[in-house]
Amino acid sequence: MQQAPPASQIAARVRGLSESPTLAITAKAQALKAAGEDVIDFGVGEPDFPTPAHVVAAAERACADTRYHHYTPTGGLPALREAIAAKTARDSGLEVEPAEVLVANGGKHALYNVFQTLVDQGDEVLLPAPYWVTYPEQIRLAGGVVVPLPTTPDTGFQVTVEQLESALTPRTKMLVFVSPSNPTGAVYSPAEVTAIGRWAAEKGLWVVTDEIYEHLVYRGARHVSMPVVVPELRERCVVVNGVAKTYAMTGWRVGWSIAPAYLTRRMINLQSHLTSNVANVSQAAALAAVSGPLDAVEEMLETYERRRGITFALLNAAEGVSALMPEGAFYAFPSVEGALGRPIGDWKPETSAELCEALLDTARVALVPGEAFGAPGYCRLSFALSNLDLERGLERIGEALA
Ligand code: PLP
Repeated sequence: MQQAPPASQIAARVRGLSESPTLAITAKAQALKAAGEDVIDFGVGEPDFPTPAHVVAAAERACADTRYHHYTPTGGLPALREAIAAKTARDSGLEVEPAEVLVANGGKHALYNVFQTLVDQGDEVLLPAPYWVTYPEQIRLAGGVVVPLPTTPDTGFQVTVEQLESALTPRTKMLVFVSPSNPTGAVYSPAEVTAIGRWAAEKGLWVVTDEIYEHLVYRGARHVSMPVVVPELRERCVVVNGVAKTYAMTGWRVGWSIAPAYLTRRMINLQSHLTSNVANVSQAAALAAVSGPLDAVEEMLETYERRRGITFALLNAAEGVSALMPEGAFYAFPSVEGALGRPIGDWKPETSAELCEALLDTARVALVPGEAFGAPGYCRLSFALSNLDLERGLERIGEALA
């Protein structure tokens, strides 16, 4: 048998990387399912709905049309870049030129382009925590220094200007801002977005604002786009977005960035050596999605809202668990501090990571531990699950912790 190669053979930049914990937990749950186990997977961050039929039909037409069998310009099909510009004006009120749009392989790839193009060795990037798992890894891959800003349920998991101010140094280059947030579901109010945006503009910082959950906002909350409420930030702001969450299109891999044209041109140079264009047929599908109606999203949102209520009620009924009501996205991020140190089957978990292992082992439910998001003591559950699975899974958690 071949010996595993020594870690020293692996380049330092990748040696410290581990698999995305959210994808890893899903892989573990899938493996158990494949072995015949009845596992309920709260780990996966994707809609359980199919892609809307008119989007699939557009992709089918593109598949049969030989024009879509070839490369497109790296930055994306001109019609798609235009449609994204039009969609952005329609949905958030931000007026942009197609030349500012770069179509990438998902929001994740769009973020990678941005960090690689803006962040230099030693640049500090302010990152409110709990954060989505990919940001710190991508910032570090670009040579940046992650400056996490911890938040708690007391502030609704939202950073304040005072907190940002106290983290500012001469090396601070950028703030990563995400609302609605993964993993907490927090949605910043228009006043807070404005205050943070003005602060960043005043300090000359770049802001990367991730708007991938812009349409997944529940009654009472409202999403606003930072460069719309703070126009003076436009020159130093990158908006990241995509079709994955809004249109249940995670598998199609289409996202984009909106950035000043000179920056977009540099990011296109980078992407031209990485992946070239996004799959042409996927771009045709994304074109149908962004230029079509938002009806499917509204229906999905109603369903998520019901599931959010069930999740909130059953989680808070579980012993040792306390959850805030998420205002957007489809995640709950409860504290499980009160459930630590108590027996679950043969386990006696002392950390949220151990608790998640114990729950998978004994109750066959997969949750992502808060450690992955820079917030030990919490867990993330996606409620983008069928109603039946959601209730069965939450009941199992309740029973395991009783
Ligand atoms: N940004 C946030 C906050 C996310 O949660 C995700 C996916 O989970 C993404 C970006 C990337 O989405 P995709 O690469 O599927 O477009």
